[in-house]
Amino acid sequence: MDKSQISKKSTEREKIVTTQETEEDVILNISLRPSKLSDFIGQKDLSDNLKVSMEAARKRKEPLEHVLLSGPPGLGKTSLANIIAHEMGTRITTTSGPAISRPGDLVGILTNLEAGDILFIDEIHRLSSTVEEYIYPAMENFEIDVIMDKGPYAKTYKFNLKPFTLIGATTRAGLLTAPLRSRFGIFHHLDFYETPDLVKIITRSAKILSISIEGSAAEEISRRSRGSPRVANRLLRRVRDWVQVKGDGKIGLEAVESALKSHGIDKMGLDNVDRKVIQAMQESFDGGPVGIESIAATLNEEPDTIIDIVEPFLLKIGFLKRTPRGRELTRKACEHMGFSNSRREPQKGLF
Ligand code: ADP
Repeated sequence: MDKSQISKKSTEREKIVTTQETEEDVILNISLRPSKLSDFIGQKDLSDNLKVSMEAARKRKEPLEHVLLSGPPGLGKTSLANIIAHEMGTRITTTSGPAISRPGDLVGILTNLEAGDILFIDEIHRLSSTVEEYIYPAMENFEIDVIMDKGPYAKTYKFNLKPFTLIGATTRAGLLTAPLRSRFGIFHHLDFYETPDLVKIITRSAKILSISIEGSAAEEISRRSRGSPRVANRLLRRVRDWVQVKGDGKIGLEAVESALKSHGIDKMGLDNVDRKVIQAMQESFDGGPVGIESIAATLNEEPDTIIDIVEPFLLKIGFLKRTPRGRELTRKACEHMGFSNSRREPQKGLF
């Protein structure tokens, strides 16, 4: 397969299993996105702690301290930011690190906030360093220094801001600078969801979408959802399409297996791109150790796609390990892919 085909495949896959938000998600998630903490399934420690922090802030009649949410895409960071706004009874302004390109953009957003408002910055690790400098006094003292003009005529104006809560979300907490990280009072990491929680999420979504689904079918979708509610909801919709066209409209185990097989999603929830990464590591680098850049170059993929989407789940299921010299395939991954046999054919029953 040449590189353009690989790249086309990965684009197809982006639509199905990607943990990034697609247009369909944006439209459909409006109804699937939990709006109250009681609808937010799983991540129990996190939601218990958040509940206490919110109640304490409400009792003190103060805004919640700044919150940093980290974890792989699709695990509920944006949902939580909206839930916090709902539970605190405040407004939320949503933006993202790359969208705030100049300090002036940030000043505009901050000066428009009302007391108690929430400012949600997604991908906060991608804020530029100049913008970041402006955010420190805003977070700490609710003020912002704006420099007008240049050289000898430069003047600094101080703007007082209304007390607000900044909620930052990041897939890479490690890329946040220490001064920014230290200005968050509350820090939570979201972990991949276990199957029983994903079953609950799928069952809830099926109910909202008025789809009939058997317990065993919900469980099978959960097992193949890479620990991500966003993927779980997306697979549910793909299976729904399948049963509406080829089945009787009800989602059973067989329909899940056939529909997901047709989308190239195997029993572990791996898709074409995951398998391509594993295959490239085995065939071009003898199983590693190898750096992400080299794998990405071989597959004509962006290193960020592999770092954010492919790698975390492969690490989580023990298919990859990190070593000081790069990433290495584990025996478990080789067994799953059938690399132990001389013809390197995928193991029977991959799907
Ligand atoms: P992130 O911001 O981390 O990328 P989102 O908050 O956008 O993730 O979550 C993606 C989708 O997954 C949501 O729109 C929602 O439908 C679903 N979801 C995420 N977390 C949960 C949860 N704990 N309970 C129920 N649904 C969830």
